[in-house]
Amino acid sequence: MSTPSAVPVTLVQGDITQQSVDAIVNAANSSLLGGGGVDGAIHRRGGPEILAACRELRASRYGKGLRTGQAVATTAGRLDARWVVHTVGPVWSGTEDRTALLESCYREALRVAAELGARTVAFPAVSTGIYGWPMDDGARIAVRTILAEATPPVEEVRFVLFDAQAHLEFRKALAEALG
Ligand code: ADP
Repeated sequence: MSTPSAVPVTLVQGDITQQSVDAIVNAANSSLLGGGGVDGAIHRRGGPEILAACRELRASRYGKGLRTGQAVATTAGRLDARWVVHTVGPVWSGTEDRTALLESCYREALRVAAELGARTVAFPAVSTGIYGWPMDDGARIAVRTILAEATPPVEEVRFVLFDAQAHLEFRKALAEALG
């Protein structure tokens, strides 16, 4: 993709739970009731309010849980953010192309955040941890989807990458996408 996004995309190496933004995206699982990785860190640092909000969602609109590729917002509890936007990434498959589902995570999470009025949104590298998606491909999908979808009033999309390797792959993907 050679068209630069209308919205700045920034890359940070670090812990997404330490970010000060309007919306923090969670790489959740369909139960919405917590897990490892980013999900565990968000609930640990954000406190019980987030889990309580997730339980309410399960008791109401999301009785069967959140489907892969979808997104839903809750309070951010004690995090320095207004909302957590939970999205469920696809588990990596070597035999089935699930790219459209991973694209959907970024698109839907961004849409939910924008509808709430978020101007700054932090994303982790969805599916690249416990769900096993290769980081280089995950980074390309993330960057190209966000560049295509992010529009004002969102003012910044920040990818927060946990380690140097993830940061490098996102830097490469961003440089490639911006030509
Ligand atoms: P998934 O189940 O969607 O793969 P994970 O949370 O296991 O989600 O991992 C997604 C990515 O987030 C991985 O690259 C992982 O290294 C990274 N990660 C784990 N904890 C954090 C954190 N606190 N902040 C930012 N990224 C994180």
